[in-house]
Amino acid sequence: MTDLAQWAAEKGVRFFLCNFTDLFGVQRAKLVPAEAIAGAQSGGAGFAGFAAWLDMTPAHPDMLVMPDAGSVMQLPWKPELAWVAGDPWMDGAPVTQAPRLVLKELIRKADGMGLMMQSGVEPEFHLINADGSAISDDRDIQEKPCYDQSALMRRYDLIAEICSTMIALGWKPYQNDHEDANGQFEINWDFGPCLQTADRHAFFKFMVKEVAEKHGLRATFMPKPFSDLTGNGCHVHHSLWSAEGQTCVFDGEDEMGLSETAYHFLGGLMAHGQAICAITNPTVNSYKRINAPETVSGATWSPQSVTYGGNNRTHMVRIPDGGRLELRLGDGAANPYLLQAVLLAAGLDGLERKLDPGKRLDIDMYSEGHKARGAKKLPLNMLDALRAFEKDKTLTALMGDTFSRAYVKLRTREWNQYCQHLTEWERDATLDC
Ligand code: ADP
Ligand code: MG
Ligand code: MG
Ligand code: MG
Ligand code: MG
Repeated sequence: MTDLAQWAAEKGVRFFLCNFTDLFGVQRAKLVPAEAIAGAQSGGAGFAGFAAWLDMTPAHPDMLVMPDAGSVMQLPWKPELAWVAGDPWMDGAPVTQAPRLVLKELIRKADGMGLMMQSGVEPEFHLINADGSAISDDRDIQEKPCYDQSALMRRYDLIAEICSTMIALGWKPYQNDHEDANGQFEINWDFGPCLQTADRHAFFKFMVKEVAEKHGLRATFMPKPFSDLTGNGCHVHHSLWSAEGQTCVFDGEDEMGLSETAYHFLGGLMAHGQAICAITNPTVNSYKRINAPETVSGATWSPQSVTYGGNNRTHMVRIPDGGRLELRLGDGAANPYLLQAVLLAAGLDGLERKLDPGKRLDIDMYSEGHKARGAKKLPLNMLDALRAFEKDKTLTALMGDTFSRAYVKLRTREWNQYCQHLTEWERDATLDC
């Protein structure tokens, strides 16, 4: 294990952000000087659990976040500072509802089955103005702005800085592009073990927002910041491997290049498709991205039903290539740890019960969706998703009962706050009733 104090001395690091991610995906940190990091590494950094989204009370004892030295990253744009993800403990026991620990528990379960998941995420984001009311580039107005070279060049300094940061961190980024919405971008890096991907995903969101601010801009991962534009998805490509990572057990000989194991895993995604939305699409706003009407560009690129296809971007799961699957459901609000965890939970259940994913649909779900007879519709709103999650006892048990209870409680509270909010729309539609 890396000795963080020694590592700091070698790298010239003066401070550490000792960090954990709560149930709503908020990153919380204590800024610990290098002089005190040895103490934090052995004894944890202290937090009051009630002050974060963890479903604790003010009477709970101190929560100690133990930094996981394997996740440490030196900020290339501020090299005196390092970020390290940690795991919360309380009274000598792990806080089982903490998202990173929920994921670790599922990784342990997979390991017990002789398996590990590798994954890559595609967190899309918008570059917006300071008050969030519009995109930041008023010349970015093409109807089909995807891959627009000129708009990409107008943000070259920022995108190149983020990509250079990722190169310095050893993530192996391989492409940057302007995405399908005006003001929207995506940066792709190499896949890896799912805990590493989750840590990098968390760091990526932090980094993009930080570097954007440095350039006088603002970045948002909000699922649907503008109702007429394509929203911010967060697709997850994934594959299962033998526990030591040598053999891809999704590789197979059928026409899609997939094994029976891959189809059982996919069967799990299909079986739990509606319930996993509570995690993959966690906010009120998430449901304005899925099931959405056509956007200015001509397609939302987000799913509407629990279906899968070949190399076809209109389904919930796409088979882009042999040996891997792409879950296209998740969005920018998804908690990086829970996103991986719920995918692994649903897939492992598919393996254990040898679930059949049903028939592949080679249709355009946007224009021919009516042909997908019997396909389950995705939840229309956050409450439907939470109810589907709560009802899915297999999934809630796999995610951990303590976690699942806490999550449903806190998100239902959020839904109720939303319902109590009087919107402009309802005033417009109802004032003259
Ligand atoms: P697309 O836009 O076509 O969906 P991207 O190139 O944007 O695809 O993202 C693909 C992601 O999938 C990357 O993070 C890549 O590293 C990852 N990936 C590629 N092969 C695998 C694999 N076998 N297992 C898991 N992830 C993979
Ligand atoms: Mg204090
Ligand atoms: Mg992509
Ligand atoms: Mg994309
Ligand atoms: Mg994709």
